[in-house]
Amino acid sequence: MVADVVSAVAGSNATVTTLMGPGIDPHLYQATRDDLKKLAAADIIFQTGLDLEGRMAKVLRQFGTTKPVIEITADIPRDQLLVEADSKDHPDPHVWMDPTLWSSTADTVAVAMTKLHPDRISEYQVNASRYKANGKLMADYARMVSQSIPRDRRILITSHDAFGYLGRSLDIQVRGIQGLSTESEAGLKDINTLVDLVVKKNIPAVFIESTVPSRSVKAIVEGAAARGHTVVIGGELYSDAMGPEGTYEGTYQGMLDHNITTITRALGGSVPNGGFRQFKAESMAGSDGQSTR
Ligand SMILES: [Zn+2]
Repeated sequence: MVADVVSAVAGSNATVTTLMGPGIDPHLYQATRDDLKKLAAADIIFQTGLDLEGRMAKVLRQFGTTKPVIEITADIPRDQLLVEADSKDHPDPHVWMDPTLWSSTADTVAVAMTKLHPDRISEYQVNASRYKANGKLMADYARMVSQSIPRDRRILITSHDAFGYLGRSLDIQVRGIQGLSTESEAGLKDINTLVDLVVKKNIPAVFIESTVPSRSVKAIVEGAAARGHTVVIGGELYSDAMGPEGTYEGTYQGMLDHNITTITRALGGSVPNGGFRQFKAESMAGSDGQSTR
């Protein structure tokens, strides 16, 4: 997700190398020897920040003494970040789930790139503006689509708390079985609490994530079944990594589009044919799309 915004802003003259690929959990990721070589060879290093890359912190701090290491979320106003009551100093780092906030990091990338290549300032600024415009369009789309989800089904249950920002964008309540990081395992108590919620609120679907083992989500399905309630796995969401390289879901836009479609349909809403790509084409042509299941 970081490479997506950096590539978009830096343009074709930059070579962007990604350390964490599809299916990789950034909370737990540690730099390999190969990564250290890549970091040593880089002119500039970008990371999400907000303690997401927790086990990379020391390595990145060391590289920060010899070259720019940029936390792309650094300029987001603190009052726009999600902060849980019991973790005051640790805002939710999963900012890419809010397309408006995430695309605003394009400005931070543009400023950092301009320091490296002052003569390219206008190119970086134009690229950042385009990236932000697309982010805003995605936010409009998310808001539109989510209105089709019935009021009483607006609860999203996933493996860990990666979807707070998406929940805010879609106006859906979000409950992760594990917390903001995947470092701690879910306990039986957490599972039972969510089984209670699923049964009580008659929730139709829960979701697995591409970067987190699915056993805790399956435990909820089984726990609900034992109490006579059928809840299905609504699909696999991309939380902390994008989909396979070379696919639409392997892009930032495709990842969010996939998540919005999967959540909306599983919770009983409807998504326009063609998803965000069609919406984008139509909003550029200035016409309305047709809505269908
Ligand atoms: Zn996460």
